[in-house]
Amino acid sequence: MSKKICVLPGDGIGPEIMAEAVRVLQALDLGFEMETALLGGAAVDATSNPYPEATQKLVQAADAILLGAVGGPQWDSLPREQRPERGLLGIRKQLGLFANLRPAILYPELANASSLKPEVVAGLDILIVRELTGDIYFGQPRGIEVREIDGQKQRFGFNTMHYSESEIRRILRVAFEAARKRNKKLCSVDKMNVLETTQLWRDIANELAPEYPDVELTHMLVDNAAMQLVRNPRQFDVMVTGNMFGDILSDEAAMLTGSIGMLPSASLDAKHKGLYEPSHGSAPDIAGKGVANPLATILSVAMMLRYTFALEEAAVKVENAVKKVLAQGYRTGDIHEPGTTRVGTRQMGDAVLAAL
Ligand code: NAD
Repeated sequence: MSKKICVLPGDGIGPEIMAEAVRVLQALDLGFEMETALLGGAAVDATSNPYPEATQKLVQAADAILLGAVGGPQWDSLPREQRPERGLLGIRKQLGLFANLRPAILYPELANASSLKPEVVAGLDILIVRELTGDIYFGQPRGIEVREIDGQKQRFGFNTMHYSESEIRRILRVAFEAARKRNKKLCSVDKMNVLETTQLWRDIANELAPEYPDVELTHMLVDNAAMQLVRNPRQFDVMVTGNMFGDILSDEAAMLTGSIGMLPSASLDAKHKGLYEPSHGSAPDIAGKGVANPLATILSVAMMLRYTFALEEAAVKVENAVKKVLAQGYRTGDIHEPGTTRVGTRQMGDAVLAAL
């Protein structure tokens, strides 16, 4: 199998955190071929294009893409097509990445970072699988028009929620397979009591379930899921849902952990090609200071090893190294507490390398 990784450090803290992730990959010595390219603001500065052709070619040829973050205030006033985030949207579109995987893990040592009581949330480990390319966000027709309603001309806003059977099937398969790699519990989230689209979602989940007899499938209405996430989040293993519900629930779940510098993410296509990136942004406020937390990016490497390259053992090795450095008391500023050792980006990378 070819093992090509396209490395896109991006902007802000991107290059700093990516350097540590790349060191971890190199230390694992798994024979990856890595090539680095420009994306986002850095690419705009060099080429006037947030997603230059050279980067597009590398992205196309790679098996996986590892991204730091893009964006920053110096590019905010550019025309829309030159904004850094256009680069990211360009990759997502080019590759048809329909499955977004966002783990929310709260390591016992960081339980105080959550706004929930430690006894409710310590040890949390859930994975939210969100459909990324369909649903009401992309459905046609959509718009704002003037219409005659109740004898009066007035503005009228409308969007269309729809999902085809094949779109639902492929995201549910990703979720069943992810559950198989974890604690084998899958909760499918819908609103079937009101929305036909999600009745179809539930029907298809039930139809697929016999193919995954080792996975326990349950269903939950989205309003209840939002409540259960703050009431008793540890009841969940993998949750799967559509684009709009997933947008909201994945942010809610991420915030349960209270530490943005710790959260990785993956976006996958049907052949397990993926874009792996930390859930946070480019943190311009701390860029260049060597204090950013590289762990979300290092954990994104672990996700890449697991989901694109099926190297479970190596993925667990990286995750265990991160657990070990937290247990040893090393903390970057964002997760620092009295009694722990404050370290910078490079030292955190060193600690992970030592723990490997
Ligand atoms: P942000 O996530 O960059 O920062 C929010 C806060 O969290 C800041 O105080 C920052 O210092 C802190 N933070 C974030 N990551 C950290 C880390 N690894 N270690 C320590 N502290 C960390 O969000 P923002 O400030 O809203 O956005 C900044 C820029 O990032 C904007 O230009 C935005 O468009 C962009 N952005 C990019 C992505 C992406 O590339 N996927 C995602 C979100 C935001």
